[in-house]
Amino acid sequence: MPRPQKLRGLLFRKDDKERSYTMSIRTKTAGDILDAQCTKCRVLTNHTIVALVEGRIARVKCNTCGSEHNYHAPKEVKVPAAKRVAEPRVRASSPAAAKKDTTPRYREQWEAAMEGKDSSAAKEYDMDGRFKKGELIRHSLFGMGIVTIVTGTKMEVLLADGPKLLRCGK
Ligand SMILES: [Zn+2]
Repeated sequence: MPRPQKLRGLLFRKDDKERSYTMSIRTKTAGDILDAQCTKCRVLTNHTIVALVEGRIARVKCNTCGSEHNYHAPKEVKVPAAKRVAEPRVRASSPAAAKKDTTPRYREQWEAAMEGKDSSAAKEYDMDGRFKKGELIRHSLFGMGIVTIVTGTKMEVLLADGPKLLRCGK
């Protein structure tokens, strides 16, 4: 399935950001000071760049405890994290969007069914009460609804949140 155009654009923008981030890292030189996660302090502290490999920061020295350790670029941590976050969000957005789509449709159906109905004439819902198709009911929890199907001791009622199966008397 092709990705939506909008999403593709978003991913490209993210890539651009990564690229520019890498560039800014590459302008650093040994002796520069930067914030990094200290493996000893276990917090973000000021570090002095000790060594660079191919223009990338390789080793840093913590200015707080003085320990020297490999530099883990935030980029290396952030990128997979961002991807991990972004991808499920993409997948999750589809069912959520589908849900959002159906709810207003039910709402429209319900609103159309309610149009011109006298809410004061609504019958209070009672699970032992007898109802017939097309009857206006008022449920203590779900509010106003229209009986759409009655089958034995069950009936389907179109409520503001969508159709619901309710018990009824025979
Ligand atoms: Zn430290």
